[in-house]
Amino acid sequence: MLADRIGIPQLREMAGRSERVVADIELSELQRIADLLSRESADGSYRLRIEAQFADHGRGYPELECHVSGRLPLDCQRCLGLLDWNIDLDFRLAIVQSDAELDTVTDRFDAIVADEHGFSLADAVSDEVLGSLPLAPVHADSNRCVTDSEYIRAKLVATPAEHEPEQVNRPFADLDVLVKQGKQAGDTDSN
Ligand SMILES: [Zn+2]
Repeated sequence: MLADRIGIPQLREMAGRSERVVADIELSELQRIADLLSRESADGSYRLRIEAQFADHGRGYPELECHVSGRLPLDCQRCLGLLDWNIDLDFRLAIVQSDAELDTVTDRFDAIVADEHGFSLADAVSDEVLGSLPLAPVHADSNRCVTDSEYIRAKLVATPAEHEPEQVNRPFADLDVLVKQGKQAGDTDSN
């Protein structure tokens, strides 16, 4: 049901009946989200709950109100440890058939154009969830970063944070040395 594409006529029927769809979906079924997830989380225990309410409020297009909740196992971009990212998201969509029809949708709505293949609830949910994520999710409390990852704890001790800029620049220093060595090698060859 979630992954199925729903045609506009069927959407109108569902909206007319005020149909409600509640489902727990495994993250592996949401491919674009699954691609982002931490590899530490392959136990399959993570799910998203989707509560979708279709409605027809007489505006000429089916409407969808949706609540998505659950957790995503992400990689913290500060410590690379597992980050349980809480999802608690409401969105409201007008589902239209053409770009021209988009103009009839009031500003209060986001709108999605259902193409000839219809509308996919899984796609719409994926769009909204991905749009809600920060570019670089990190543990809200930076102390968690140290405690969550033994590997990183060891790394932090080995390379204190204030030395990071030098660490970052070092490849260029190495390159400089390589260039000099290359020149010397060239000099030797030409002699
Ligand atoms: Zn972290």
